[in-house]
Amino acid sequence: MIQEYKLFIGGEFKDSSTGEVFDDINPATLENLATIQIAGAKDIDRAVEAAEAGFRLWSKIPAPKRAEILFRAARILQERKEELAVLMTKEMGKVLPETRGDVQEAIDITNYAAGEGRRMLGETTTSELKEKFCMTVLRPIGVVGLITPWNFPIAIPAWKIIPAVVAGNAVVFKPASDTPLLALKLVKVLTEAGLPPGVINLITGPGGTVGKALVQHPRIKAISFTGSLDTGKWIMEECSKTMKRVSLELGGKNPVIVMDDADLELALEGVLWGAFGTTGQRCTATSRLILHEKIKDEFVKRLLAKVKALRIGDGLLPETDIGPIINKAQLEKIEKYVKIGKEEGATLLFGGNRSDPGLPGYFFEPTLFADVRPEMRIAQEEIFGPVLGIFTVSDLEEAIELANSTKYGLSSAIYTGNVGNAFRAIEKIEAGITYVNAPTIGAEVHLPFGGVKGTGNGFREAGTEAIKEFSEVKAVYIDYSGRLQKAQIDSAE
Ligand code: NAP
Repeated sequence: MIQEYKLFIGGEFKDSSTGEVFDDINPATLENLATIQIAGAKDIDRAVEAAEAGFRLWSKIPAPKRAEILFRAARILQERKEELAVLMTKEMGKVLPETRGDVQEAIDITNYAAGEGRRMLGETTTSELKEKFCMTVLRPIGVVGLITPWNFPIAIPAWKIIPAVVAGNAVVFKPASDTPLLALKLVKVLTEAGLPPGVINLITGPGGTVGKALVQHPRIKAISFTGSLDTGKWIMEECSKTMKRVSLELGGKNPVIVMDDADLELALEGVLWGAFGTTGQRCTATSRLILHEKIKDEFVKRLLAKVKALRIGDGLLPETDIGPIINKAQLEKIEKYVKIGKEEGATLLFGGNRSDPGLPGYFFEPTLFADVRPEMRIAQEEIFGPVLGIFTVSDLEEAIELANSTKYGLSSAIYTGNVGNAFRAIEKIEAGITYVNAPTIGAEVHLPFGGVKGTGNGFREAGTEAIKEFSEVKAVYIDYSGRLQKAQIDSAE
């Protein structure tokens, strides 16, 4: 018997007004895990109304008290870590150690952002006038709409929800349709921890209708979106019509540079993990390998041997290195890009085909292309799968120019034994994140996360920026002089 899940509005599970549902499919086995209700326009109105009511109460609770509930949520997540990780592997396919990491990231951001409840730092500063005190305070925005992708089914929602609610906002949350169960589990944990009714509301269904309605809803004050560039562009345009604040975390085409002075074994391990971890389905996945010509042949030979040894299969099995692709459409997209790469004249060194590990799901071989040139589509467009393009350069300057040659700018890495090369890369690579002697994946929650150029619109998540994404800054002037003082006029005398 397959369980049907309802929407979560105003602290209760409610039937959707549409009567429509969709299936939640395990991408390794194609087993149907659950049936999920599809929200309609009426449900989104109800969710916004519930969130407005929730906001009125929640925003008045002192932030340290709000945080206590979130610390409780972190403890519940910790207790359920294994259960959630196993469910996540079933729901989206990545291997168990990685899904455990995903849950751990949710625990980490929950503890970190809840800690901010005792800070909520503004600034105090000076005034150009006598007997005048100046400071800034953070205010919540109101009802915020959160839209998330499937590749980090609990970490990314937690990155948004926890800072949003500790800052005093109420949330309407639309998760990816490939991973609704983990979203439901997170909402359940928050409710069990004591989050009052209306503070978190969950609406499920296709982005094209449910997500769209959320973006266009006149009473949603801000949208925080993580997903593809095309959807992000559309959301930004739509939000301008209702003057919503919008924060975007979009795609990547992340380069790793390996210099001739690098520790090659270390770099090999980093490239393998960066390119094929999560089956290449990370916004920070390594998709471009930029090799110094002096080590290129040796590096490619050793990489090839490691790639050939990767085992594809069900992420629940301990021997599996690479789990399935999320769905059929994404599998076909990867196949399309392999075809494009061949047609463009890149050399297919390994992989390029669907794989059959004895399960009916969506598996694809780890794939290596050599002789990739910067103008090729496989060098420019995000494939979001286990496909790595290899480039050759003769010096650091050329490597950095190549690294900067796409519209994206999320993560980047350099392997080098030379401190000067490392600092030049930090200075010149156009990216929100640069790793030195470490792969392009591996962000920690207490540092800001996000990218430049087509990867976003300047916001950062997590770290010191986490609360700011979901706060308004108010400047406060307190004049205790007892007389009218005119800034810029009296102070100029
Ligand atoms: P996507 O197709 O853009 O979908 C992301 C979310 O947006 C899903 O919840 C989706 O709903 C929803 N959506 C789709 N169309 C919408 C619309 N018109 N209005 C409102 N919402 C809409 O992206 P994806 O394929 O799920 O995720 C992969 C992408 O996310 C990659 O580009 C990856 O790089 C990026 N990503 C970025 C980061 C980062 O932090 N920079 C992190 C992870 C992933 P449905 O699921 O129902 O379609």
